[in-house]
Amino acid sequence: MSPINREYEKSDRVLMALENLSKDWPIDPLVRDIHLGLRSDVMDYHLKINQVTYHIPYISETSDFLVWNCLWPDCHNCCEKQGRLPLTIKDVSAISKHLGYSDRSEFLKKETYVTTWKNSTASSQKGSQLITTLTMLNLKRRETEREEDNGKPITCRFLDEDGCCSINSSKPGVCWLYPFYSWSQNENNKLSVHASYQLTGDCPGFFLTKSLEDYIPLLKKYSEIIYSYTMNINSTIREGFARIDITE
Ligand code: SF4
Ligand code: SF4
Repeated sequence: MSPINREYEKSDRVLMALENLSKDWPIDPLVRDIHLGLRSDVMDYHLKINQVTYHIPYISETSDFLVWNCLWPDCHNCCEKQGRLPLTIKDVSAISKHLGYSDRSEFLKKETYVTTWKNSTASSQKGSQLITTLTMLNLKRRETEREEDNGKPITCRFLDEDGCCSINSSKPGVCWLYPFYSWSQNENNKLSVHASYQLTGDCPGFFLTKSLEDYIPLLKKYSEIIYSYTMNINSTIREGFARIDITE
């Protein structure tokens, strides 16, 4: 195992998010410290399930794994705090149809905007940090959303009063994926798909466990979601609807 690289760097944004979260949910101090990158004993545990290699934080001093379970319907914080909703080409077809658009260009003009942002992701091969610069179409979380709102936590307009998603059957792939994020890389001329957690401080579903045994069914279920989403991202790039540049 190598020291884990996290998608989000320690930041005021994560600290603020955790402070807000702790008003409504108990946050284990160790889980909080992992989010903030305050521990030096967090290792990157690799677990391959189906076609996805998971990178799960493992705390060597206490022998704990960081795992997750969704607390919906008691929680819908991710729909209140999403920083953006990037779309795959499959999402564009499904959501435009769901919203009643017969003309895709009209949907793109009224409901989406294009923006660019940077993420840091893990490289399992070298234990080094990869910086990805993404340019993608994004679904507007509010009708007046503009490029300047990219990254700002905004309550999504599709979250209804009961805490449900009003476009649930066609919601963006990134919503199905949360709180995981994924990336693909070439290993020995084969495409491999990897996933880890978005530790943004917005999700109260993280907890610690000594064994991953009870977690395997969830990881199996998510391996299909993650693989399909990552393939959709790759097709979106191939079709010219997104661009990802990677630098080390
Ligand atoms: S924030 Fe986390 S626990 Fe809450 S609904 Fe979203 S994924 Fe589930
Ligand atoms: S589209 Fe639906 S699932 Fe996604 S953030 Fe909005 S309300 Fe939540």
